[in-house]
Amino acid sequence: MSALVLDGLTKRYGGFTAVHGASLRIPHGQFVCLLGPSGCGKTTLLRMIAGLEEPSGGQLLIDDRDITATPAHKRDFGMVFQSLALFPHLSAGENIAYPLRIRGVPADERRRKADSLLELVRLPGMADRPVSRLSGGQRQRVAIARALALEPKLFLLDEPLSALDAKLREAMQIELKQLQRRLGITTIVVTHDQREAMTMADLVVVMSEGRIRQAAPPMEVYRRPADAFVADFIGMTNLLEGEVTAPGRASVPGGELVLDGLPPHGRALLSVRPEEVLLHPATASGGQGSGQGAVANRLAGTLSFVRDLGASVEFRIDVSGREIVALTRPQDRPAVEPGAAVIVEIPAEACVVLPPEGGTAGE
Ligand code: ATP
Repeated sequence: MSALVLDGLTKRYGGFTAVHGASLRIPHGQFVCLLGPSGCGKTTLLRMIAGLEEPSGGQLLIDDRDITATPAHKRDFGMVFQSLALFPHLSAGENIAYPLRIRGVPADERRRKADSLLELVRLPGMADRPVSRLSGGQRQRVAIARALALEPKLFLLDEPLSALDAKLREAMQIELKQLQRRLGITTIVVTHDQREAMTMADLVVVMSEGRIRQAAPPMEVYRRPADAFVADFIGMTNLLEGEVTAPGRASVPGGELVLDGLPPHGRALLSVRPEEVLLHPATASGGQGSGQGAVANRLAGTLSFVRDLGASVEFRIDVSGREIVALTRPQDRPAVEPGAAVIVEIPAEACVVLPPEGGTAGE
């Protein structure tokens, strides 16, 4: 049984379609990130799930029950907005207890519950602190605690960490993930930051132009992107255009690749992650002659740029006028300098064959 099912959810604003038929199954206890660039429809989709936006089409089911027409306040969902929407004149404890007060929970029970939620979000003893005297990260935690006060079935967050500085943001990503694991609550977070999604999610839902392009665990989205948009949006990648010349063979700028999964003929679009590209000095390899005798999966190029990134080294190589990026660990750094002739080796298993640009994802 699925906790939450989105079945063809669509939102139109006049003639503009912000979300096109989004379908997705979210099992109980999953941490889901809706990920995509600005304007791709992720907030609109989250607001439809929350009941704050009426779908123009499609259905929303929770445990097989149709809740498409259920008003937001009857859905038992907890929500945290980007703005947090805390009451600045109330204390942390009063903010957290607010939804309980609305429900008529007696004062002493409210106080107990607020204290235990403050413990949960690692702000013990802060109940009486005015919200105006809390740091950004502390406010964030108060907003999370308040959203959890009514023990919601579903926890929805819209860019909850975007106002925090990079370091605090990363710490909060880990904290939020740990909290979600402890509570086991199905959680959906909107983010435009792919690292954030990779850090927190069990299921990454990549969106572009109102459509779900891929929904899969983080490493699958990274290793087996469904299309060129996903490949490019999730981390850095090399997109190579090839022409199939024979079964399992494609010519690409600078040489030929032998690999599985190619279409029988025509054009092929390939994604190759930079850390899977191998780089050799041209002389030492001996694998690539000029003209005849060229070895498959080895392309001749010229190193144009090297950048030390600390944990890795980035190489930019000009291969027949196209740039290929390779990343190595510092200890594996090949002895090549800008201007050197190099061999770029692309192992067959590093290539992901993508549907042609404009084609549909395989979901
Ligand atoms: P961001 O990260 O910038 O918040 P998003 O992916 O969350 O972007 P949405 O806010 O869902 O995107 O918006 C999707 C599209 O729908 C945008 O083009 C937006 O302009 C449009 N849109 C959103 N709300 C409305 C509205 N009330 N009326 C008309 N168009 C809208």
